Amino acid sequence: MKQKIQVPAIHTLLHTPEAARLLQEFPRELVTDALRFAVKKEREQQMQQIEKEPATTTALCAAASALLQKDYSASCRKVINATGTILHTNLGRAKLSLAVQEQLYDAAFEFTNVEYDLESGRRGSRYQHLEKLLTKLTGAESALIVNNNAAAVLLLLATFCRQKEVIVSRGELVEIGGSFRIPEIMQLGGAVLREVGTTNKTHLADYEQAFDPEKTSAFLKVHTSNFHIEGFTESVSIQQLRPLADECQVPLFYDMGSGILVNLEKYGIQHEETVQEALAAGADIVTFSGDKLLGGPQAGVIVGKKTFIDALKKNQLTRALRVDKMTIAALEGTLRLYLDEQEISEKLPFYRMLSTPVEALQEKASYLKDELAGLAELHSEVKESIAQIGGGSMPDVKLPTFVVAVRPQAFGVQNLEVALRKLEIPIIVRVQQDELLFDMRTVEKEEILLIAQSIRQILTGKED
Ligand SMILES: *Cc1c(COP(=O)(O)O)cnc(C)c1O
Repeated sequence: MKQKIQVPAIHTLLHTPEAARLLQEFPRELVTDALRFAVKKEREQQMQQIEKEPATTTALCAAASALLQKDYSASCRKVINATGTILHTNLGRAKLSLAVQEQLYDAAFEFTNVEYDLESGRRGSRYQHLEKLLTKLTGAESALIVNNNAAAVLLLLATFCRQKEVIVSRGELVEIGGSFRIPEIMQLGGAVLREVGTTNKTHLADYEQAFDPEKTSAFLKVHTSNFHIEGFTESVSIQQLRPLADECQVPLFYDMGSGILVNLEKYGIQHEETVQEALAAGADIVTFSGDKLLGGPQAGVIVGKKTFIDALKKNQLTRALRVDKMTIAALEGTLRLYLDEQEISEKLPFYRMLSTPVEALQEKASYLKDELAGLAELHSEVKESIAQIGGGSMPDVKLPTFVVAVRPQAFGVQNLEVALRKLEIPIIVRVQQDELLFDMRTVEKEEILLIAQSIRQILTGKED
């Protein structure tokens, strides 16, 4: 016996209070489409399940609302990073300093002099805003900015190494998260990779023997940012390569990856070569990312000898890789903070999070645990743990931290992790065996109440 299909008409649904609420948020056409889709699904279900109770108008509007939210509410938005990874590439790497807010706002919402020279009243260069700062901070003769560090390396190869060999150590043929691989970027830049040495050991003599005056266009050193090999190893430094580069009369390029401008010992981390040091040691060009340890926006910073930078500027590819005015504003604002080193640990979120004392992290963890105390459905505990720098930078550095380890009794660890991810302000956590870890190294104090409220709401279904 075939049951009669019972679904309301679209115009009836459109007149419900629930639909009225949707119409305030979304255009009529989208709401109508979503309701149509919800009704179509309902009709299909009724046809398949003979016993099915017809859905209420409220349920149909809720289904339409879920569809609309999923497809048309803001997709790229704030999340809470409770992973403990400070430069999380999937979560946007460096958080910008609030000190750049005004400059960034003006770049976005006002007209700017991005390519206008206020002195002469003529067309200016978009790089003028950064060149002076970058040369002052790094000691370089000149500077250029492109879209990201991958673009910087590509531009370098395409400008100086097309159809020529570039000598790179086998120990430095890195892959950086996703799709940046030295051998492939070489190919893309039209250069021929000339590998020397072995995975663990490369000597100066390897570069020397590989040099061919007809073929060699550059020595390229690549920072092995995201891995570390230990034991029987040897690599050749910029300082050691410099005399050979002079003798061979080829440029010496260095893809530094993170590009550090400060001495990290101040932050309790072993010293890493800075951009200034690499240039002083003799690199002709150094490239690095804007959004790794620099703490700025996504960008590729190129610093070094003026003759090389001038040649890069003339390459048409530079136009295709050029940065937006918002990037310029955010990068300039970030670099200005470096003029006073004191400012950095206070104002740059990366360095602030890096240098937060463990006692302060323990305090934050206790605060969150206390806020969760009343929840019978949950076992929570303050624990010591290890946080990371991330962004493919300094994998050896283990940052001591405090976490709140949470075990939902009946709800299930996986279910809670998913529910946290699906919140309006998603909370991204670490999952470790049968616990969720909320790492205080990357959580701001102001976010703790929201985290507690969100967990409460998920577990009890009630808002505070
Ligand atoms: C991160 C990194 C890159 C890629 O930089 P992006 O700014 O992400 O494009 C290239 N080389 C090295 C050594 C890196 O560490």
